[in-house]
This record gives sequence, structure tokens and C-alpha cells, in this order.
Amino acid sequence: MTRFAIGSAIDEGRVRQGQEDFLLADRELALFAVADGMGGHRGGEIASHLAVETLDRLAKERLDDEPLTSEWLARAVQQANDALVARAADDSSLKGMGTTLCALALVQGDGYKALGVVNVGDSRLYLLKDGELEQITEDHSLVATLERQGRLTRAEAAVHPQRNIVTRALGIDSKVMVDSWEIAPVVGDRYLLCSDGLFNELDDNRIAATLRRLADPDDAARELVRLANEAGGRDNITCVVVDVAEDSGETIVSDGDRILSAVHGPDRVLAEVRESGEHVALALDDTAQRKRLFARKRKDGKEAVEDPEIARVRHRSLMTWRVMVFGMVFVLIIAAAIGTIIYTGTNTYYVGFDGETVAIFQGKPGGVLWIEPQLEERTGLTRGEVPEGLVSEIEAGKEQPDLASAQRYVANIEDQIEARGSAPITPTVPPTTTTTRLAPDGQPTEPSAPTENTPT
Ligand code: MN
Repeated sequence: MTRFAIGSAIDEGRVRQGQEDFLLADRELALFAVADGMGGHRGGEIASHLAVETLDRLAKERLDDEPLTSEWLARAVQQANDALVARAADDSSLKGMGTTLCALALVQGDGYKALGVVNVGDSRLYLLKDGELEQITEDHSLVATLERQGRLTRAEAAVHPQRNIVTRALGIDSKVMVDSWEIAPVVGDRYLLCSDGLFNELDDNRIAATLRRLADPDDAARELVRLANEAGGRDNITCVVVDVAEDSGETIVSDGDRILSAVHGPDRVLAEVRESGEHVALALDDTAQRKRLFARKRKDGKEAVEDPEIARVRHRSLMTWRVMVFGMVFVLIIAAAIGTIIYTGTNTYYVGFDGETVAIFQGKPGGVLWIEPQLEERTGLTRGEVPEGLVSEIEAGKEQPDLASAQRYVANIEDQIEARGSAPITPTVPPTTTTTRLAPDGQPTEPSAPTENTPT
């Protein structure tokens, strides 16, 4: 038999007119809840009451053979949502009303007893275990989302001007997502359900210190409310303290530090596992699969996932579309660079020497990286025929944009040679002129010599 010691306190605070928070602390049902309503014209008050009262009524009306399970709790929260949506549809002055709902109950598992937790919105469940305070629920608020994304620190989120904006609440939509957990009840563990009127005034250290200091759960709840008022009391403040006082040993969830976490969607159960800030959601449609989702809570607050199926899903999610796009862009850049090198290395010509013959080559003189120039055609010109002034530029390789230009360049050299006469031009032999006179008998005479001593 699991037994609880309970304490609770609720206060309007020092600023607000009216009470929009509501609580339930039913020892007999072992059902505990906190709701924080919102909406004009008494809308917030009606929303929080309706949500908690629907949960309470459903638990009492439950048939004897219908066990109170985590799934039952999540369905009851859906039904509370339905009740709110129907009420707002009936009364136009209540349009836009909504509420958070955070509840804790002793639930029946498959052969074990556990503490079931359900949560929608930014009210919280804390667990004080061995003197250490841990927030079990995850806030459905704008600042909590920014904090999970690493864009705000917890300290920044705690004082953010928009910290009252919730991202999930009952009464807003016909369907609602419900987070749920199962925790092994361990004697000595102390739970705190509270509205944001508490934790917006007191940080976790002060809440922990108060829960450690006061053994009586009622004293602890009242003291927390008093301290929140002392710190400003800018909102309604609600606290429910639940101590696990006795446990007969029938609890076999685990060794006490295993927590099952799940998200109950409107139609199916989605499991959510958090590790290193990464979220993995997958459909879990049977109990066996869900039981494998048990995760071990470590001291650093992270959950080590033991389920290989989940580990595989998480691993797969690392290969995101960003990685794929990056990879494709990288490959394209490399391909473009290679293409450019091949283009410049081959799509050009030059005139050079192939041995002693003038020739046209495809490519760049000397080549580009691994691309060697290729001999395109030899011409009829030799090194000795090329005008002196052009030898060095042909030696270096006279570049031409295309084959026709290279051929024109060669033709141009041939024209120059033609215009100067067909005699080979050799730089080492200076040109000589010879005059020949014919004698009357037709015999050539000796050329006249400038000197008297001429050979005969
Ligand atoms: Mn509030």
C-alpha cells in the first residue's frame, strides 16, 4: 500500500484581484492537481475549476474494474479539454478561456504501481529526492522553448517579460497534446505541484531549501506561498506538497530512478525522449514498446536512452537535409573546379617547336596541372626558316584562342618569308652581292677585283 502525506496552500497574491488558480488534493483517490486559468470575465477562474473538476469527477465515476492508469489520466485530460471547448462554445463571454493542468496520481501499471504525471501548460511538478530538487515536467511556454533551443539561459527565462506566454493549454483547441510520465514511488520522495505564481517569485534554490527545511507538508506549502508573497506576490500562488510516506513493496517499476516519459496525442501515444537537448518523437502504439522507453535519469539531468530502436531513430535524425545539401554543394564546387581546369587546359592552342619543326599544339604551353599539351599538327616550317624576331616567342609557345587562329599565325610567318625571298635567312652568314659581266664571246670574265694581285 502506497500512502501519502499531503499539504496544500493557495493565495491570490498581492496584486491580482480574484483567484484563477485551482487545486485538488484527494488522499483517498491519490489524485493531486494544480490548474492556472486564463481569460477575461471570470474565464480563467471557470477554466481552471472546470478542468480540475472534470478530472476529479471522471476519477470518481470510474467503474471498479477500470484501473486508473497513465493512459486513463491522459484521456481524462482530453475529456477536460472537450468540456472547456464545449463550455466556451455555449457562452460567448468565455471565448478564449484556457487553463494549464498538472496532475499527479497513483496509477496501475502492468503488474506494478507507479506515480502517473500528466501536464499541459506551464504549471510544474518538482521532485525533491535525497535533498536534490528536480523539475519533472517541461513547461509549455515560449521562454521554455527558447531555453531548450539554447537561446535563453534558465536565469534569463525566469525574468523574461514574455514568460507568461504558454504554448499549450486546455480549452484552446479541440485536440490537445498531453505529456505524461510514470515514476516509481519511493518512500521519502517529496513532490511539489505549483503554479507559475510560485516559481516566478522564488528560484529553484529557495524552493528546494524550503522543502528541505520543513518536514510537515502543510507547513512547507504555506511557507512557500508566504515567501512568494514576500518576494512580490504578483500572481496567484498555488502549492500542493505530496510526500511518499509508506510503500508496501508492491512497486516494481524499477529501482526508483527510472522514469517513463510519453506524450499523449489526440489519437495515439507519441514518446518523447530528451538527450543532449535533442528531441526525438516516435509513435508508440503498444505497451511493450512503451515499456522499453524507460530511461535512466542521470545526475546531470539528462536521460540516457537504453532502447536500441530509439537510439537508431536518433542516429538517423543526424543525417538531416542540411547535411545532405552541404554535401551536394561541396561536390558541385569540386566538380566546377575540375571542369574549369580541364577547360582552360584543353580549350586553347599555341604555336611552338616540335623539335626543329614549327607545330600547333592543343593546350597551354607547359601544360596545366596534370593536363599535358597535345600535338595538333606539324607545319612545313623549320626553326631555321622562322624570322629571327619570332623565334623566342615560338620557343615560349605563342598562344592562340583556337586552331584557326594558330593556323593563320603560321600562314602569316610563311607570307613574311615569301615576301623576303626564298633564300634561307641565316643570321650567321651576312648577305653578299655578286656582279657578273659577260664577255663578247659569251664567256664569263673574272669579276673585277679591287686589288691588283688577283689569282688566275
Ligand atoms: Mn499564473
